[in-house]
Amino acid sequence: MKVLKFGGTSVGSAERIRNVARLISADKGNIVVLSAMSGTTNTLVEISDYLCKKNIDGAREVLNQLEAKYRDVVRALYSSEEYVAQADGELARCFSRIRDIAHRAFGADEEREILAQGELMSTTLMYLYLQEQGKNVAWLPALEFMRTDANGEPDTHYIREHLLPPVAAQPDADLYITQGFICRNAEGKIDNLKRGGSDYSASLIGAAIGADEIQIWTDIDGMHNNDPRFVEGTAPVSELHFEEAAELAYFGAKILHPTCVLPAKVNNIPVRLLNTMQPEAPGTVIYNCSTSRTIKAVAAKDGITAIKIKSGRMLLAYGFLRKVFEIFEAYRTPIDMIVTSEVGVSVTIDDERNLHSIIDELKKFSTVTVDRDMVIICVVGDLEWHNRGFESRALDALADIPVRMISYGGSNYNISFLVQAADKVAALQSLQTHLF
Ligand code: ADP
Ligand code: ASP
Ligand code: MG
Repeated sequence: MKVLKFGGTSVGSAERIRNVARLISADKGNIVVLSAMSGTTNTLVEISDYLCKKNIDGAREVLNQLEAKYRDVVRALYSSEEYVAQADGELARCFSRIRDIAHRAFGADEEREILAQGELMSTTLMYLYLQEQGKNVAWLPALEFMRTDANGEPDTHYIREHLLPPVAAQPDADLYITQGFICRNAEGKIDNLKRGGSDYSASLIGAAIGADEIQIWTDIDGMHNNDPRFVEGTAPVSELHFEEAAELAYFGAKILHPTCVLPAKVNNIPVRLLNTMQPEAPGTVIYNCSTSRTIKAVAAKDGITAIKIKSGRMLLAYGFLRKVFEIFEAYRTPIDMIVTSEVGVSVTIDDERNLHSIIDELKKFSTVTVDRDMVIICVVGDLEWHNRGFESRALDALADIPVRMISYGGSNYNISFLVQAADKVAALQSLQTHLF
């Protein structure tokens, strides 16, 4: 059994839904995970924002436009009046749910319930379309098995216990269909796995059922060796180790949600990245492959703040780093990159919410300098320290770019550079020219 996840662009119109239906009908017995149609989650966030600001008219206007768009999709998708009527009825239920929620006192719970409607609508459209095509489709409601615990982490035991029985109960299904992104939290309330989280859903489902493979279908032919949004001439990478994929996803390769790799890695399930518009392209396979003395890819993570923490008394001092890290821990702020010297330490964070408090605490025992608007450029591949020359090739590529921090040796798979946001594209382009 495989898990096939399709992102928002892949199901973004009636034509695309038909295309995905063709792809998933080629094989029997797989679980299909869908995102909301492209743009829908953003629109639902916008509606929630109006409601949060108590602008009911603003929310209503955007909601009406969204509803009209879905009506058009329904008319373009189905060939029989019977299915048009059924889809209209199901979607009307989702829209009236949103309108009901709009009249409640609006808070985070209400927003999460509104956001959930995107995936519920896309899967409903696909489910009915497959039925119209004569398929035996099994409906697996994510809100009945996908669950997070009190720490907001997936409750893998609960997921298995509640996913396996409905799958086993429908052994003759041509395929199973479920929603990405949405879940319930420890209190049983509707929640989600954070933006882009459908990849995570697919991976958690794959782990729960012990899938043979997890396929992430999107709008590009696999993980490219550099960010195609900023660099010309990028090319797909045919295979990546789990660790390499995790580094790339965490450091900005948007094709894969960073959380998606771990469940697949732990259960040793290959993840294949494929292109819905070009299904015959080989894409990228992520597994426990042996890396082969090559640099595989480059990614960039935006919105980084660097903090330099200098102590006059670090010489032979112990306990300094502990004091520094305790402050970040107290403010629940993860550190991405870290470098040390005799006189101090520089770290980077991407969550600035508690920056002022953190700086206030640090200043009690050190001198602090902050650089905002920075970018981490991450070079990923077989960077085991005995391999000669790889670090120098990456450094050479950045010869003309001011580099604020360099981190190497934390894993066998990555070397990271911190540069100003203004230099990001030049850095990516130069690495492309020098490394590939
Ligand atoms: P989906 O909606 O299917 O989840 P995403 O937009 O999340 O798709 O991810 C696909 C996009 O990721 C691509 O269109 C591409 O622009 C972007 N992307 C960023 N870095 C990379 C990379 N290294 N390789 C491939 N795609 C990348
Ligand atoms: N629909 C959600 C989002 O736009 C989840 C996803 O697409 O992965 O973030
Ligand atoms: Mg995505």
